Parts: sequence; structure tokens; C-alpha cells
Amino acid sequence: MKEIYLDNSATTKVYTEVAELMKKIMLEDYGNPSSLHTKGVDAEEHIKTAKKQIAKILKCQEKEILFTSCGTEGDNLAILGTAMAHHRRGKHLITTKIEHPAVLEPMGALEKQGFEVTYLDVDADGHIDLQQLSDAIRPDTILVSIMHTNNEMGALEPIEEAGKIIKEKNPQCYFHVDAVQGFGKAEIKPKKMNIDMLSVSGHKIHAPKGVGFLYINEKVRLQPLMLGGGQQGGMRSGTEATPLVAAIGLASEMCYENLEEKRAKMYAMRDRFVAKLEALDGVYVRGKRGTETAPHIVSASFEDVRAEVLLHSLEAKGIYVSSGSACASNHPATSKTLLATGTDKKFLDATIRFSFSDFTTDEELDTTIAALEELLPQLRRFTRK
Ligand code: PLP
Repeated sequence: MKEIYLDNSATTKVYTEVAELMKKIMLEDYGNPSSLHTKGVDAEEHIKTAKKQIAKILKCQEKEILFTSCGTEGDNLAILGTAMAHHRRGKHLITTKIEHPAVLEPMGALEKQGFEVTYLDVDADGHIDLQQLSDAIRPDTILVSIMHTNNEMGALEPIEEAGKIIKEKNPQCYFHVDAVQGFGKAEIKPKKMNIDMLSVSGHKIHAPKGVGFLYINEKVRLQPLMLGGGQQGGMRSGTEATPLVAAIGLASEMCYENLEEKRAKMYAMRDRFVAKLEALDGVYVRGKRGTETAPHIVSASFEDVRAEVLLHSLEAKGIYVSSGSACASNHPATSKTLLATGTDKKFLDATIRFSFSDFTTDEELDTTIAALEELLPQLRRFTRK
């Protein structure tokens, strides 16, 4: 049975070139990048290359890239590191109701320590209201954190407009963007967009799990969370994971090769898939069309079918999808995004996410539609009276 992997927002397959580069580093250039001998220098070269590759994409300086272990770490460092460094200036933070737990949990932890957090609403399509953001910014607001691309619905937030508003209302307030689902699929220029910090995760862009990076504008002052040997300018102690760092550098470069072409292809593929999904009985695709949503995420609700049952029925046919957000394993009960977008109660556990990568084809999506055509009437026999 041929596998059809439509769960790329949970994680992606590593690019072959990336795996080969990692193998070479693990077996040959395995020195500690802090060592003074040539083995160390060779390892350090890989880190410098990765920084160059990423800085070129973001149009930033190489020293503004900090390697982390994952998207979660970048989000935590941006939020907790800001709170610890700037609590004397203010104890107010702003975020949205549909962030990943990697943002919502540190925000919640800060609330317990006496910080105040404003959670912005979203509309039915998952978009924030810029007026509400503007009204929420105060002189004591130290950080606004808004996701670039929602992981469940693919909603693209108005980051550039938000950046402008934040800096106009409070130039000292930092702007953090969780771009774990957006990096690699969209042009993101932190300086142009007034973004002070940007979190990215390797395993969403065809690098392995266990690596990410945080772009930190050179003017930003953060308190590090990890103390030790002073690597990465003391901002994150711990020996750099050279194979992983090289992997995220190369994967980033590969994702951004011919990006416009890839985006156009993915949007066309998505629109064709969405039209076919909507033609099925009792299937409702969520969120806006066009370029207000990401090209690679489709969220659909199924009448009279439980998401988990459908997920496993598709799995039996070699098709892998997600119910809610697989990467939030401790938060499966009720999706915050579904609740915040006012989803009808009957769809709270009847919604499936299909997410694509460069490897996804129209043929695979047609096979998925055919599988749904076969499965839905069968599954509904058990639920419909
Ligand atoms: N932020 C968003 C929007 C995500 O979708 C995810 C994971 O799915 C994360 C953060 C966490 O990333 P990681 O799994 O690398 O910790």
C-alpha cells in the first residue's frame, strides 16, 4: 500500500540532502565547535554556513540567529526571557487565543507570577482584529506575541500591519512571532515587518526533530533560560548540535529555493482539493480561501463522523492526517482554535487537518477524496439514525 502523508504540519520527512549532510558531520566533522583544533574549526564552519543560509532568507545579520532545540524553546525564550529582563518596565503582555501551547503555557505561567496577559479574539476564520490589538497596547506592555500561521486552520495573521501598530503605540514593546508553521512557506522579513523575535522549528521544514532557531534583533535584550558554558554568546549555553544546526540551515535554504513557484503550485493543489472536499456530502472546509490562509493547511469538519474514527479509517488506507493539532499532545481535549473561532459544538470532535509538503501531489489528494467518498457513508451508518 502506498503511503499518503498529509500530516506535514505535525512533522515532515527530512530532505535526503539534509540527512546526507548530517551523516557526513556525524561521521567526519564531529568535533566540538568550541575546540581550537581543526576538528573544532571544521565543525564551526558548518554552524557559520547555517547562519549565513538563514540570515540570507530573513535579510538579517548572522549574529541575530540563535539555535535552539525546537519551536517550543524559541517561544519560551522569547516570552520568559523578555519577562525576566523587562519586568521592571512593565508586566503586561499580549497574545492571541489561538496560539500553540508553546506560547500559551509560558503566558499562563507568567500570569501565576503576577504578570497580566491580554488574549486577543479571532474571527470565524482565525484572524485577529487589528483595532483590538491597538486598543490593548499600553505603556507597560513589554511583549506582543502573535503567530504567523495558525497550525490548525492555516489562518495567516496580519503580521506586517500588527508590527506597525505595535511600534507606533509603544516603540519599546517587543514583537514576537511564532513562525513555526509559516517559515519555509512564506516570505518573512523581520526588519521590514517590525518583528523583534521569530521562532522557527526544524522538523516542520524537512530538517529533523530536535532543532530550531530564534531570530533575535540585535537591539533586543533577553534573559537567557539556559546557563552554563556561555556558548552562542551566553544566550544559550550548551554545545551546539552541529549536525542539527547544519540540517536546519540547509533545509531552510532548500525550502526557499523557487518559493514563489512552489507556493503557486501548492495553492492550486489546495484549491482543487478544497473544491472536491466541499462537493462531498456534509463536509465543511473551515477558514478563508485565497492568500489569507496558508497554502499547505486545510481544515475540514465532517457531519456525523468522529474525527478520530475517520483518522484511523484513513490510516487503514495508508493516508495519514491529523485531528486537531498532533504536536500539542497534552492538549487534545478541545482545540483552542476551534473554540475561539466559534465552531459549532457538533464539529469540535469532527474536524480533520490535512497538511501538505513539497512532496504532496494532486494524485495523492485525489486518492484521499476517493477514500473519503467510500468511508463517509460507511461511518455515518453508525452515527445517523
Ligand atoms: N508553534 C506552532 C505554531 C506549532 O505548530 C508548533 C508545533 O507544531 C510549535 C510551536 C512547537 O514546535 P516544536 O514541536 O518544534 O517544539
